[in-house]
Amino acid sequence: MSSRLGDFLASLIVPPICCSCGAEPAGSSDVLCRRCSNLIPLLPAAICDRCAQPLPCGVCPAEVSAWDRAYSACEHRGAAKALVLNLKATASKRTAELMAAEIAGRLEPKQLSGFAILPVPARRQQDSAPACDHAGALAGALSVLTGRPLISGLLSGGSSARQATARRAVRLSHNRFKMVVAGRPPLRCVLVDDVHTTGATFEACASALRSAGAQQIVCVSFARAVDRGRMAAAW
Ligand SMILES: [Zn+2]
Ligand SMILES: [Zn+2]
Repeated sequence: MSSRLGDFLASLIVPPICCSCGAEPAGSSDVLCRRCSNLIPLLPAAICDRCAQPLPCGVCPAEVSAWDRAYSACEHRGAAKALVLNLKATASKRTAELMAAEIAGRLEPKQLSGFAILPVPARRQQDSAPACDHAGALAGALSVLTGRPLISGLLSGGSSARQATARRAVRLSHNRFKMVVAGRPPLRCVLVDDVHTTGATFEACASALRSAGAQQIVCVSFARAVDRGRMAAAW
């Protein structure tokens, strides 16, 4: 059965809804309605290539970090936040494709030349059941779009679930971000996650990859949590 026919039959059973506003989207497989698609809060062209926040980023929070560059497509709010929640809940291929297209639109092909794509590892839930591999779905979609090879399963780690709202210091103190590299990593790595918040997950992954021999590391995310207080202080 074609995926399009499958989507149509599924839509007869469960009518599609926009994951942001709940309205009916134009297409039976669309994740967002047309209005919300136009409201995705894209980041401006001028962003800091270390912390991925709009310039000026103030005292750059990524001035000292294990990665070389960081890019993000949107600000983590509104329709972008709804997409992130949808991907976390479902690891939907459609949602991942939409988000990957926004990321790819921000990158020059030459920026990825010679790089391999690695998802940050899926976190385990508190009951030890495997978490939904949303970063894996996003990295897979980005690999298809960019033609860069996907390397899954090289990174693992973190004993327990990441809490998006936890403060970085608290999270680091619980050592939840220790990552393990199973083998020799590619020399050039693109790390992929859905959201770049404090950067603690990227930092743990990048540190582990660099220790294992990676030479260039770029962190890409669909959405960036923007620290407006820090930016205001820069003016
Ligand atoms: Zn909508
Ligand atoms: Zn910065």
